Amino acid sequence: MTSFKSAIPLHRTCQEAAHLMLAREDRPLNWRDKTALRIHLWICANCPRFERQLYVMRHALSDWRNEIAK
Ligand SMILES: [Zn+2]
Repeated sequence: MTSFKSAIPLHRTCQEAAHLMLAREDRPLNWRDKTALRIHLWICANCPRFERQLYVMRHALSDWRNEIAK
């Protein structure tokens, strides 16, 4: 599995993927980062879970923002 992962030129570690997912909250990623992240989420068991948590957090946060904007 390790050799398969390292054979992919756009391979990212989980730490790098997490960093990209967080950066994505603030700014759009370039195509290379976007592709690398998509590949990582496809081959990784843990990061999709983290992405779902981020998704929930973002929605909770925007609800909260809407609430205080009233
Ligand atoms: Zn990962």
